[in-house]
Amino acid sequence: MKANEILAQARQENRTVLTEIEAKQLLMQSGINCTDTRLAATKDAAVKLSEQFGYPVVLKVFSVDITHKSDAGGVKVNLKNKAEVENAFDAIMRSCKAAVPTAKIEGVSVQVMAKSGIEVIMGMIKDPSFGPVIMFGLGGVFVEVLQDVAFRIVPIEKSDAEDMINEIKGKKLLEGYRGQEPADVACLQQMLLKLSDFVNTTPEIEEIDMNPVFAYKDGAVVVDARIILSTAQASHGLRAA
Ligand code: ADP
Ligand code: MG
Repeated sequence: MKANEILAQARQENRTVLTEIEAKQLLMQSGINCTDTRLAATKDAAVKLSEQFGYPVVLKVFSVDITHKSDAGGVKVNLKNKAEVENAFDAIMRSCKAAVPTAKIEGVSVQVMAKSGIEVIMGMIKDPSFGPVIMFGLGGVFVEVLQDVAFRIVPIEKSDAEDMINEIKGKKLLEGYRGQEPADVACLQQMLLKLSDFVNTTPEIEEIDMNPVFAYKDGAVVVDARIILSTAQASHGLRAA
């Protein structure tokens, strides 16, 4: 689906939260590399998709009512065969129904298990006075506990992208720490620039969360993405984000 069709469909369904699949489609169309992620409505479909992708795969709950998927027990990683996919499907359904009894669960999303890399996050929030602001940081504990993140007002230029990556305190981790491979910083800069372009040309987006992005020696990939639309252009009763 084209970007405007994805946005129109969400509007039509009175949704402000896009699904992981929709969010990744929009980002991919903006040139940002994401794991190819598909919907499986049934256990059999999940197995079929897993075999098409090739193991190991990741299954995640697919529900417009569950945005923080692992909190609800909705993410199973490193599934290596049919039996593991079948068990994961059942486990996800069981825990998500228990965690969010009112959720309408449409199935699971299936994607390849990306090899591990240095975890970073990128995103966009709208500042009440500055408007859209791009964010970059290291993933996990660095953002949650240390709040080690850099911000820039959209649109950003190449030098801004460089500065953002340079100014985070944990920057050394990107340079290859304790035998770990360094991150492809040029690729991360490009991703930030593409994100800025996307935000700049899509004003109806309120918030973007690419968390995590795995950075490698060569390249990087978004493994989870969340996009929230603004309520301003909606005509009637949106569900709260
Ligand atoms: P949540 O909605 O809870 O943020 P995520 O999609 O981020 O769910 O998945 C939780 C964690 O699972 C991620 O932080 C990441 O470590 C791992 N993960 C998710 N997708 C993949 C993938 N395709 N390959 C490897 N690891 C993944
Ligand atoms: Mg996530």
